[in-house]
Amino acid sequence: MVQVEPITTARVLRGPFDYLAPEGARVGMRLVVPFGHRDVPAVVTALMSTSEHALSAPRRIVEPSLPQDLVELAFWLADEYCSTPARALSLMLPPAGARAKTALWAEPVAGAVSEATRLTEPQRALLGSLPRFTGADTAAMRRLEGRGLARVSRRVVRRVPLQVPVGAVRERPQLTADQQAAVDQIVGAPGGERLLLHGVTGSGKTEVYLRAAEHALAHGSGVIVLVPEIGLTPQIVARFTARFGDTVAVLHSQLGAGERFDEWMRLRRGEARICVGPRSAVFAPMADVGLVVVDEEHDASYKHEGDPRYDARGVAQRRAQQAGAVLVVGSATPRPESVHAIPRVRLPARVDGQVMPPVRVIDMRSASHVLHPDTHDALMACRKAIVLLNRRGWSNFLTCHTCGRAWGCPDCDVTLVLHRDRATVACHHCGYREPVPRRCPDCRGVSIARHGIGTERLADDLAATGAPVFRLDADVAAGARVLAAFGAAPRGILVGTQMVAKGHDFPDVDLGVVVDADSTLRFPDFRAQERTFALVTQLAGRAGRGRAGGRVLVQTMAPDAEAIRYAARHDSDAFLRAELERRRALRYPPFATLIRVVCGAEAAGAAFATAAAMVGALRAGAGAGVRVLGPATLFRLRGRERAQVLVKAGERSPAVALVRGVVDAIAADRIHRGVTFSVDVDPQ
Ligand code: ADP
Ligand code: ZN
Repeated sequence: MVQVEPITTARVLRGPFDYLAPEGARVGMRLVVPFGHRDVPAVVTALMSTSEHALSAPRRIVEPSLPQDLVELAFWLADEYCSTPARALSLMLPPAGARAKTALWAEPVAGAVSEATRLTEPQRALLGSLPRFTGADTAAMRRLEGRGLARVSRRVVRRVPLQVPVGAVRERPQLTADQQAAVDQIVGAPGGERLLLHGVTGSGKTEVYLRAAEHALAHGSGVIVLVPEIGLTPQIVARFTARFGDTVAVLHSQLGAGERFDEWMRLRRGEARICVGPRSAVFAPMADVGLVVVDEEHDASYKHEGDPRYDARGVAQRRAQQAGAVLVVGSATPRPESVHAIPRVRLPARVDGQVMPPVRVIDMRSASHVLHPDTHDALMACRKAIVLLNRRGWSNFLTCHTCGRAWGCPDCDVTLVLHRDRATVACHHCGYREPVPRRCPDCRGVSIARHGIGTERLADDLAATGAPVFRLDADVAAGARVLAAFGAAPRGILVGTQMVAKGHDFPDVDLGVVVDADSTLRFPDFRAQERTFALVTQLAGRAGRGRAGGRVLVQTMAPDAEAIRYAARHDSDAFLRAELERRRALRYPPFATLIRVVCGAEAAGAAFATAAAMVGALRAGAGAGVRVLGPATLFRLRGRERAQVLVKAGERSPAVALVRGVVDAIAADRIHRGVTFSVDVDPQ
């Protein structure tokens, strides 16, 4: 018999369940099994010899199977992030509903060409073009086959993703001494070891990954490379495809299901031995992984915001350990957690020998315009600039001049943001939108004030200067195209949200501007300092990469904030020292584990009451070194009231187990029905 996990999202239907073993049963085999009144997909998680239950047989076997080590990883992930094995397994499956594509493959019969008498001219041309796959001219192929001139068979064709950036083949540059030392340390590291590649922006980290990957491939090992968002960082993908060609598989959310299926299968069959992709690529079905790279390891996109709320950096570490692979995480602004736990390799200088661009902090406390006059002048004088403003839309919110009404989301307790190009005001949390109001529905007043400014408005203002303006934010569909256009332009201004600060490598940018450096500092979150430091440093890293040099202006209302002062001096060591001290004093990660539970309910008061009950149960079960904070009311989201409980613990595993037990017990209690729970270990 076999034990299986049915792939369902319900927490209560937790496996394993016993079934008769199908032929050739093994861990990772995918099945369809009768379950209640339905047939559901399932994965075999264990082989057993006996069972007390009366067993039913699976309906059928589904190809391809999952590798066994991914099944193990799923169980670990479910535990670590307080989820279920079924939800964890669903992350690892190939795209649902996709299958291999086949087409007709035609090749000439030996000697056919010389015997090709009485062929029409198109037929002769067709015959001359064999062998090849055929699509539209199937009938013509069949006619050639009928005359004994070609052999036609059905074969699997690979759907080659068009969206995957292909780089021009570049030579392998001569490594700098620092790069060489880093490569030596990585390739010399024993399996299971972790290294943090802490290199300033432009220090050539990618080249180090490429060489380490080369080494791994030469020793028969596979390589997983995680990148923040492929749409925004096509350069790193292009460099891998240029260097390694078809052995690179790219798993990319913008690929069609068919393309993703084909890439998945190439990895599963071992045809591709390097997998580059965003966080989900950590589940690549690859055997004998020898190297796992997490590029830009500080990037928030590594955290998955749906259940299971896993952190790809944590999973990468586990995967590397499990496979006996070396884990390399790299960044110019590594997280305090990584600096605390992982041995560091440094790349202290830019490859081209350029100094870091000077950063000037501009005090905006007495400024009356969005852009300081000096910023304005610098923008007029520069060739190419990148301008960061971390707010989308035209203006942040609207109020009625007459009665003071503010436009808010009917389902969330937040204001609506004006998007002028779409003529709507929109909720950035749930997507609700309505037309731009012409008059106030309460007092019929027609004077409506716009407050604050976002990227859309800033781009419009900047365009008035006559410079070509390129806008990049989540409202712009073709981000990669905007970046390419900006890269190719002789001059211009790239303006946008934090997306403009990702690892782009434009050698001719001579000015970087942070318009409101405090927008991340104002967040009521212990990571506010870390985020602000990273954002300013990363933006600064985009400037002055070429011979022309460059400079950076940081506008802020808090010129004395540590994160801003250290970023202006490019002093990540001092920042990290101060930040780790602060975290130690306040018992924040890495000196404690945080677990957040959010209760949500439609009924008034229900979420808070359930959260309160949870606080009681957690406190009753908590050992020494565990603090339970809350319940605290959160803003209403999508029509649901929410309340959160925060657990701060010295030891991770017992705390996760405690929370899981309490959530399961409370979720099963009918008093709390209608309340939903979201558990977030290491919330971001
Ligand atoms: P980082 O990721 O550390 O910011 P990159 O990997 O983007 O830096 O490298 C910056 C630039 O330097 C890239 O254009 C890269 O091709 C180039 N580069 C990297 N290593 C070398 C080297 N050893 N010699 C010359 N150019 C290099
Ligand atoms: Zn909303």
